[in-house]
Amino acid sequence: MIRRIRSIGASRPRLRVIGWALLLAMICGLLEAAEPIEDMVKATRDLVRARPASGQIVVVKVDERTAQALGTLAFSRRYDAELLDRLFAMGARRVFLDRVYADRTSPAEDRAFAAALRRHRGRVFLGAIAGTDGELEELIPLPDFRSVAEYRSINGRPQPFSLGASLPFAVTIDGKTVPSMAAALAGQAPASQAYFRPDWSVRIASIPSFSFSDVLAGTVPAEQIAGRDVIIGWTAATLRDIHRVPYQGLQAGVYFHVIGAETLMRGTPMRLGWLPLLIAAFPLAALYLLSRRWLTRGLAMALAIGLMAPLPLYLDAQLVEVDVLPALLFLAVIGYQGTGLRRLETTRRSHPASALPNLVALIEEPEQGGTLVALKIRNFPQIAASFTTSVEGTLFREVERRIRVAGNPGPVYHGEDALFWFEREPLSHELINHIGGLHKLLTQPLRIEDRDVDLLVSFGIDVDRDRPMPSRVASATLCAEEAAQANDLWKVYDAQRLDKAAWELSLMGRLSAALDNGEVWVAYQPKVDLETRQIIGAEALARWNHPTAGFIPPDQFIPAAEAHNRIGDLTYFILRRALEDLAELRRRGHDRLGIAVNLSPRMLLDPAIVGEVVRLLSANGLPRDALTLEITETVDFLSSPTKVRTMEELAATGVRISIDDYGTGSATLEYLSRLPSQEVKIDRTFISNLDTDAQNMILVKSTLEMAHKLGRKVVAEGVENEPVMQLLKQLGCDVAQGYLLGKPVPFAQLTEMLDRDFPLEQRRLVIW
Ligand code: C2E
Ligand code: CA
Ligand code: CA
Repeated sequence: MIRRIRSIGASRPRLRVIGWALLLAMICGLLEAAEPIEDMVKATRDLVRARPASGQIVVVKVDERTAQALGTLAFSRRYDAELLDRLFAMGARRVFLDRVYADRTSPAEDRAFAAALRRHRGRVFLGAIAGTDGELEELIPLPDFRSVAEYRSINGRPQPFSLGASLPFAVTIDGKTVPSMAAALAGQAPASQAYFRPDWSVRIASIPSFSFSDVLAGTVPAEQIAGRDVIIGWTAATLRDIHRVPYQGLQAGVYFHVIGAETLMRGTPMRLGWLPLLIAAFPLAALYLLSRRWLTRGLAMALAIGLMAPLPLYLDAQLVEVDVLPALLFLAVIGYQGTGLRRLETTRRSHPASALPNLVALIEEPEQGGTLVALKIRNFPQIAASFTTSVEGTLFREVERRIRVAGNPGPVYHGEDALFWFEREPLSHELINHIGGLHKLLTQPLRIEDRDVDLLVSFGIDVDRDRPMPSRVASATLCAEEAAQANDLWKVYDAQRLDKAAWELSLMGRLSAALDNGEVWVAYQPKVDLETRQIIGAEALARWNHPTAGFIPPDQFIPAAEAHNRIGDLTYFILRRALEDLAELRRRGHDRLGIAVNLSPRMLLDPAIVGEVVRLLSANGLPRDALTLEITETVDFLSSPTKVRTMEELAATGVRISIDDYGTGSATLEYLSRLPSQEVKIDRTFISNLDTDAQNMILVKSTLEMAHKLGRKVVAEGVENEPVMQLLKQLGCDVAQGYLLGKPVPFAQLTEMLDRDFPLEQRRLVIW
């Protein structure tokens, strides 16, 4: 429902077109200005339906032959009388005379005629004309005639340009209701004074017709007349009762009555006018204009065409007369303007350079949904400036092609220096991977005008499907912009509203840049020998100072990096930095110092890890045992042969291994002793309150005993006060680490600390 309202709201120009078309159609209908055309259309439909007359009505023509035979057309009424006798002798049912007989001729002739009428009383009908305002005077037969024969109206109303004529059902003559001759021929006596349009599909040529003179001469076979109604008509051209009938040439007026009678014999014609078709056309036009669906529009068009031709044809056959022109005009305006509008819309909705749909299309396309991705070409101005011709279209179309290659079937929209599209995936690992892949694809050089062009791109992602399109486009654009500014690959909209997963993902979008630009750095926390109280090494701890989010604790970004397969980048970064720094310290004389680096268990699945560790140690000229890798204890170690193998390989190189966070998992030391390691590091949760918590005391004590029995050194982490420190010393713990001894600090501070603790002359005495 909302969608529908939106789409109508978005098409005010269309509503305007409908309004105008409707107005034009109404004017056309009301002014009857198009009546001649309408008549022509009707005549054409009649031609399509052409059919023969019933043959029940026979015309006897007073034609040129009759004039020849009788010497004149103004022949004596004796002949009329004789003809009547003859026709009834031949078995005619009724005889109609398409003439009024309002004037007197010679008394003898008139008497002879009146006598014939009397002889066939009740079976002969004369013509009469009802007066119409201004045009016709009332005309009725002479009293001598009308006293012995009834009369019927021969009124007719010609259409403009002789495009047919209509006939009345009945008229008022001499104060009485008189049926039309057509109605009388059809055997009806209607009272309605309305006019009807005869069904001109009846071909006049098929109406049986005989010359007056032939009937008189007796050359017309009686069976042609027997049992039929006869109408006598004056058809000779000089009599001027000759009219043009569309597609049927010049025809005498008498045939109009016959066609009218043929019509009435089939039923009562009905006039519906122009409104019904217009009303029917209205919803189709609306559908055609407002629908975006090709199929719906086609269907509307087909129905509209049906409305204009087959339907009226069918109705004609049912004697229901409709006017098509106003509806046709309406549909024509809609069709023409609609096409224009659509063309305009296509122009309005596509980017002039690339011909891709533009942001107008994106914003007005409410059917779309999903994750909105904006791809900003950061160096577009530079690229554009380096060419003498406009390469915008080529460039963006090529980028669009690559987006498609990466598997996006939907439309790609082009706005300024960015492309937009929808991804079905919500913000997920898959999506981020996909974008990573797309990035790789896009950074392959692009060939434009025989030159290789390197693209610099960034992505903005909007995941909030519920917001209105314009704001989604804006935030995706903004994110792409911000990502570009911060040198990030992507940015996700609205950190505040994002859940934990989304936030982590947005962090990952920044990780590479953060590693490069110093946002991520290494803090060092000293490890102190409990016996000598001297610093024997330091643990490298990752730090991230995010420009907007501030300090992000490793507990947040390390698990995120693990989850999104970025832990390798981070690990190697810390490892490299830590080893470089250690080398530096050793150069300064602290040459027995060791460094501890945390290794996610996940890294044990990285086939490069052993080689890389060895390579970095050698590169920095360090002995293998200068590095301790702290690996968090987990039970599943032994169940993963790969992890165990890697650990064994690492140990085999001479690197020290420490079981980190001991006590937090459920693995016993005995169990873990099956893994190669030199050190056990008891987690701070058991150490920091060691002086007050008896339970922890038991654990620490037994761990120390067991570890020492197994030949492992023991490190206590989280030493915050002196009593704990003393306790650990009494229990025989080897090394302590904690805020009491030193917080994690930047490298420079660690150097200071070491230099103070170890005057140059003492440095070589440190023993580990
Ligand atoms: P962890 O390996 O157990 O690191 C020791 C944590 O205890 C550090 O927290 C350190 O700042 C904190 N700590 C040290 N002494 C004390 C103390 O006396 N009292 C208290 N309350 N805390 C103390 P941090 O730096 O926040 O690191 C948290 C965890 O993040 C680390 O736990 C480690 O699992 C992980 N992590 C840090 N850097 C890296 C890294 O480079 N790689 C990997 N894989 N994990 C890392
Ligand atoms: Ca650690
Ligand atoms: Ca710990």
